[in-house]
Amino acid sequence: MSNKKPYRGRFAPSPSGALHFGSLIAALGSYLQAKSQQGSWQVRIDDIDPPREVHGAAQDILQTLQAYGLNWDGDVIYQSTRSRSYEQLLAKLSDLNLSYACACTRKIIKLQGGLYRGTCRNKHLAQHKHALRINLHNLAQPVTHFHDRLQGDVYLNALEATEDFIIKRKDGFYAYNLAVVIDDIYQGITEVVRGSDLLSTTGKQISLYKLLNVQEPDYIHLPVAVTAPGLKLSKQNHALAIDKENPVPTLLKALDFLGQPAPLAMHTQDCSKILDWAVKNWSLSSIPKKSEIKI
Ligand code: GLU
Repeated sequence: MSNKKPYRGRFAPSPSGALHFGSLIAALGSYLQAKSQQGSWQVRIDDIDPPREVHGAAQDILQTLQAYGLNWDGDVIYQSTRSRSYEQLLAKLSDLNLSYACACTRKIIKLQGGLYRGTCRNKHLAQHKHALRINLHNLAQPVTHFHDRLQGDVYLNALEATEDFIIKRKDGFYAYNLAVVIDDIYQGITEVVRGSDLLSTTGKQISLYKLLNVQEPDYIHLPVAVTAPGLKLSKQNHALAIDKENPVPTLLKALDFLGQPAPLAMHTQDCSKILDWAVKNWSLSSIPKKSEIKI
């Protein structure tokens, strides 16, 4: 997308634990990409999944970003305050026949091979009792690939990318793919920079943009940090929280990871000076074009 709108990027952590090295990569990469274009960098706390939320994590993440000199623009947005917008969009999708209720359990879908095959699309089940799915059958052109500014042309698993995905869960919580699109639109995000672990969700999200008739943002999916092939650092596998007291060594390591090693003269500086250097010297083409890197 070549858009002339002012650049707006974002970092959107889920508060399911402290910031670890893997999430620092997404924060730093999105920050440098935004700031190198004099853009704004927003922080949004994706707190729409209370069962997975860890008490105090949101505050801790924000303090860690500040300790690393990653200062955001404007106010932090909390998805937990955005229910009205999600409900309005759900009502609109329902009115336009672009969503439907689905009673399939995970177990049933697993038995059918792991992908949802539109079983409930024409059943007209009561909306309030079940999960809600988007109806992608209305899309003139199914989204099975997209262009990533780092990874190049990405071809997705077509069946997975075009399945009618969940937009509201049976337990009443909003689905990530719904909330991320509506909030990125609301915040005017022009480019999404995040970990390549989210590559497979991008087709679904672009489908939603198309149904809403809104231009999707540009995408950059950064390599994710893994401890062994396929094993990403994550809150789920208890990745260690990064050091808030002594951030410089971790910040330098994160710059190395992104292919932007700071010169030795920078190693004795504070985070803000290192970030100034990194913004000036940021080179998208130096980031390894990989989906994962072992650390
Ligand atoms: N909240 C999501 C996560 O922490 C990321 C959302 C996104 O960048 O699209 O995995």
